[in-house]
Amino acid sequence: MKDLYDVIGVSKQASQDEIKKAYRKLALKYHPDKNPGDKEAEVKFKEAAEAYAVLSDQQKRSRYDQFGHAGVGMGDNAGPSGFGGGVHMSMDDIFSQFGDIFGGSPFESIFGGGGSRGGRKRGRGSDIRIKLKISFEEIAKGVEKKIKIKRSVLAEGAELITCPTCHGQGQVTTVQNTILGQMRSASICPHCEGSGKRIGNRPSGSGPDGMVKKEETIKIKVPAGVEEGNYMTLNGQGNEDVSGNPGDLIVMFEEEEHPYFVRDGEHVILELNISYPTAVLGGKIEIPTVEGKAGLKIPMGIQSGQVLRMKGKGFPRIRTRSHGDQLVKIQINTPKKLSREAKKSIESLEKSLKPITTPFSKIDL
Ligand SMILES: [Zn+2]
Repeated sequence: MKDLYDVIGVSKQASQDEIKKAYRKLALKYHPDKNPGDKEAEVKFKEAAEAYAVLSDQQKRSRYDQFGHAGVGMGDNAGPSGFGGGVHMSMDDIFSQFGDIFGGSPFESIFGGGGSRGGRKRGRGSDIRIKLKISFEEIAKGVEKKIKIKRSVLAEGAELITCPTCHGQGQVTTVQNTILGQMRSASICPHCEGSGKRIGNRPSGSGPDGMVKKEETIKIKVPAGVEEGNYMTLNGQGNEDVSGNPGDLIVMFEEEEHPYFVRDGEHVILELNISYPTAVLGGKIEIPTVEGKAGLKIPMGIQSGQVLRMKGKGFPRIRTRSHGDQLVKIQINTPKKLSREAKKSIESLEKSLKPITTPFSKIDL
C-alpha cells in the first residue's frame, strides 16, 4: 500500500489546508471527465480521494499516523470491522466529497453537483463534452458565450413503439439457478437501453436509431475567476435518447495563452521593461491589467528584478469575489543602439556617476 502522504504529495507535518490544496490539484488533474477512458488516471483519482478521506479527518489521520493503513481499515490486514471501517469509495462518494473541497456556488454548478457521473443513468441520452477557450480578460470579468453544438434528437416523423424485449419496463430480469436457490437480478434492457421504447418507423435521413443531429446555439455564462480544467454541467442539454430524455452538456474551460500575462492562481504576473532614467528617478506610469489600464508608481532607485505588487489587480477568486494581485517584475532596459546624442549624454552620465558607484558586492545566492 502506498503511503497516504505520498499519494497526496505532502509531508507528514502538512496542515489541513495544505492537504486540501494538494488534493484539489490532484482531483482536477485525474478527474475522469478530463481523462476519459484512462484507467490509470481513474486509479490515481480514487487513490487520492481515499487518501484525502483519511488525512482530512483529524481522528482518522492520527490513527493512520499511529497504526498505518490497518488503523483506518485499509490494506491487507484490515478486518471487515477494522478500526474505522474501510475507506473504499465509489465514484459517487468521491463526487459527493467534492462539495466541501470546492465549496458552494458557483463551484457546485461547475463541478456538476448532480450525480450524473460514474456511469450512465438509466434511460437517458449521452453527455456532450465540449472545450471552451476563454481569454484572461474574459476570465477577469466573467463572460457570456454563445456556442454551436450538435445534439442528437429524435427525427421528426419517427414513430416510437413499446420495446418488445422489456415490454416498456426499461429493465429485464434474469433468473439463475444457483446452489443457494434462484437468484433474480435486474439489469438495463439491452435493446432499448432502459428507455422502454424503440423506434418503429424511421424517416429517411435519420440514423438506424431514428435520431438526427440538430445544430443548436447555446448560451454559456462563464463565471469570473474560472481556471483551466474547471468545468460546468448544463443539465439536460446533451443528446436525447429515443424517448426524449436528454443527457448533460459538459463544458470544460481552457485558458487562452496571453502575450504577456502569466497566471498564478488568482495572481497575474508580468514583466515591465523600464528605462534607466525611470529606474533612477521613479515615476508613475499606466500599465495593462486583466481588467484594463491601471496606474503604477515606480519608486526612485528601483533595481532590476524587483517585484511591485498591485493589490487587487489580479483575477477574482471564484468563491469570495475578492481579487488576487498583479505582480510586476521590473526589468531595466539597456538600449542596444544609441544615437550620437544619446551616447554623449550617457558618457557624461558615466563620468558624473563614477564617484558614487560601488564596483563590487557580494552575490546573494
Ligand atoms: Zn427494452
